Amino acid sequence: MPELPEVETVMRGLSLVMTGERFAQVDQRRPNLRFPLPENFVQRLTGRTVTALHRRAKYVLVDLDTDDVLVMHLGMSGRFTIMMPQQTVTVPGDFRLPAGSVAAHDHIVFTMSNGATITYNDARRFGFMDLIQHDDVAAHKLFSAIGPEPLGNAFHADHLRAVARGRAVDLKALLMDQRTVAGLGNIYVCEALWRASLSPRRIAGSLVGRQPARDRVEALVMAVRSVLVEAIAAGGSTLRDYKQVSGELGYFQKCHAVYGCEGKACQRDTCSGTIARITQSGRSTFYCPACQR
Ligand SMILES: [Zn+2]
Repeated sequence: MPELPEVETVMRGLSLVMTGERFAQVDQRRPNLRFPLPENFVQRLTGRTVTALHRRAKYVLVDLDTDDVLVMHLGMSGRFTIMMPQQTVTVPGDFRLPAGSVAAHDHIVFTMSNGATITYNDARRFGFMDLIQHDDVAAHKLFSAIGPEPLGNAFHADHLRAVARGRAVDLKALLMDQRTVAGLGNIYVCEALWRASLSPRRIAGSLVGRQPARDRVEALVMAVRSVLVEAIAAGGSTLRDYKQVSGELGYFQKCHAVYGCEGKACQRDTCSGTIARITQSGRSTFYCPACQR
């Protein structure tokens, strides 16, 4: 499943070829993805100009020169392929899936006024697209309950203390909760908790209090930010070559300290522990029982 850094990379890749360009043609090959596509989807996009792209949590938002915003979510397996005229194919943000798509899963094709062909392929069809009025985005059910962006100014230690106060859930569940912080998934929660030396099993409410718990919250905020920034940089570093390079952008996958590292030695210099895997809320958690408290 694409996580926030992948979605950010996809958004930046699309922005390079969409911003300021017009939808010359929209090819809709089925009535639905995860949900039905909005009525008059093709008509509402065709001829409109893209003014800007943004990311909110794991959604890509495309501002149009109408009041519409095109909202796109990649689901489990969604990905975009960009083809420039007479150039090779690129797959921005495709961190894991093998290159080479099955044409039967090419569901939506945008042709932009600069000649770029942008194909949305989604084998499992958990992704979706919708058109939302610009003024309704913040209050829309997709976005109204989502917490602050992890890389934004509203995500800070005081916010984290406020949401942790009195909570009996474990710390991993608190961070996975989209009301706490937007767009964090399993991989980056595990990595951030390891960086902050905090156990995913720790009761969230125990973070609130005197030193050293206070410092731990600051460390956790920094850890969340740093793992995401590094992952985005790893994905984004290939975007510079987006016109030449085809294939996968799987670099950050190799840099995990705990995720997928069960049985390996803890990478912290001062620790001789071994990475363990446990199940929390039905998902695998990877952590070092020796140094994460
Ligand atoms: Zn350790």
